[in-house]
Amino acid sequence: MADNGEVEFPILCETCLGENPYVRMTREPRGQECKICTRAFTVFRWLPGRGMRYKKTEICPTCAKLKNVCQTCILDLEYGLPVQVRDAMLGQQDTVPVQASNRRDYVAKLENSVNAGLIDFSGKAQPAARQQLRHMARSEPYYKRNRAHVCSFFVKGQCNRGNECPYRHEMPDSDSELARQNISDRYHGSNDPVARRMLDRTAKRTDRLAPPTDKSITSLFATNLPENITQKDLHQHFAAFGELKSVIMVPKNSCAFINFKSRAGAETAAQAAQDTGCIVNGSPLKLTWGKSKPKGPASELAQKSKNTAAVPPPGSQTSSDLYPSQDPTAQGSSVK
Ligand SMILES: [Zn+2]
Ligand SMILES: [Zn+2]
Ligand SMILES: [Zn+2]
Repeated sequence: MADNGEVEFPILCETCLGENPYVRMTREPRGQECKICTRAFTVFRWLPGRGMRYKKTEICPTCAKLKNVCQTCILDLEYGLPVQVRDAMLGQQDTVPVQASNRRDYVAKLENSVNAGLIDFSGKAQPAARQQLRHMARSEPYYKRNRAHVCSFFVKGQCNRGNECPYRHEMPDSDSELARQNISDRYHGSNDPVARRMLDRTAKRTDRLAPPTDKSITSLFATNLPENITQKDLHQHFAAFGELKSVIMVPKNSCAFINFKSRAGAETAAQAAQDTGCIVNGSPLKLTWGKSKPKGPASELAQKSKNTAAVPPPGSQTSSDLYPSQDPTAQGSSVK
């Protein structure tokens, strides 16, 4: 039943479809075997815009629905992310058998429930994990991904087709890495170098939020503040994690110091940001831990100010605040 002729439109992400939603497609019933379940399915082909390469569906609609992925690029339909990234973040297991012969039966058995909409893929996701995925996702379709592949002869300096060459005469980039990946690996969410890189980046952000060994640090440093954010917004958001001593905004530098009364409050806030990102009024802020109280002379302080965007005026270290709140404007003006 993989191909009953009722399929009118493939399951595609916005990027693969291209800029024109009314793009003309050719349709070939039972045109190819699905790269996952090996059953014949209706293959669609189309050109997703000028200067792009022809695209076609690679897996059947049932396999796509089973994982909520695009039939062509195998990226998640909701977030545009590799299956491996999505499943790692959601703590989801791959349930489709890896052995091709078993895959066929597995998918065939699930076909009716999938088509009846009985399998709700995304319903299981935790709200916090969803938010983090949204944070990692691209907000716009990424049409560059549809460009012609890089010419392998050109890369070796051997292409003599010149302007007639249908491939791209450029050195390879990360897009071509995506193109080289094996579809089944990407579907199962394993061995995916692009996913690996994204997860590593997230892990690095996690490192950044690891509590510093200096237990006297009870402050977090927020950057990337949107223009419309107020001190009250920040106060409201962070007070949920622990009692605040002060919130000092430096609008000029789009940053703020969040000073907690206790270490526990700062740790709870950092943990929450690590788990779900730090979203205030719908805008993602970047959060790091505050630095240890500078001990050196003023010159060293000045040196540090180059790296930390804002620094307390010399002499203010006597306060127990990491970055004291008495004179926020002085903080802003001390920068640069
Ligand atoms: Zn399939
Ligand atoms: Zn796609
Ligand atoms: Zn070429």
